[in-house]
Amino acid sequence: MEKEKGLSESGSRYYRRRKIGLCVRCGKSQIGNRIGKRHCLECDAQYRIYDRKRYYKNKSSRLEAIQKRNQIAKDEVYRKLGGYKCICCGETEKVFLTLEHKNGDGKEERKYYGGSRLLPALLKRDDLSNYEILCMNCNLGKYRNGGICPHRINKELRV
Ligand SMILES: [Zn+2]
Ligand SMILES: [Zn+2]
Ligand SMILES: [Zn+2]
Repeated sequence: MEKEKGLSESGSRYYRRRKIGLCVRCGKSQIGNRIGKRHCLECDAQYRIYDRKRYYKNKSSRLEAIQKRNQIAKDEVYRKLGGYKCICCGETEKVFLTLEHKNGDGKEERKYYGGSRLLPALLKRDDLSNYEILCMNCNLGKYRNGGICPHRINKELRV
């Protein structure tokens, strides 16, 4: 009951102010002939700042949601490819690992999907056989060594 009373009181204050052309927020300044406005210039400006703050707050929570979605997709894609482990040298430090297109033509794909949409898109695919997990060293080694990591050549020589 108490609450209802409070609500209707502030409601009537709002309409009273509106009726006599006062800013409904501060109740001090006249709105004047600013058609369709309910707040004085000063309150309007404050409102806009508040709105912008809310916008950025939403924006950062949106980004958080995207990051979370990507992390889940990443975990799942990596899991399907054998986990967070370089298939060449066995490196397991996540920071060093990258998902690579086997034929090296992942660039177009990355461009097409954009950085953040590739993993969720891959997740929907049944066939990930064109992808492999490599650490930065092996990835670079493969690239600089004509498509095969030096680790592998050394191994072959040793055998
Ligand atoms: Zn005002
Ligand atoms: Zn490696
Ligand atoms: Zn290697």
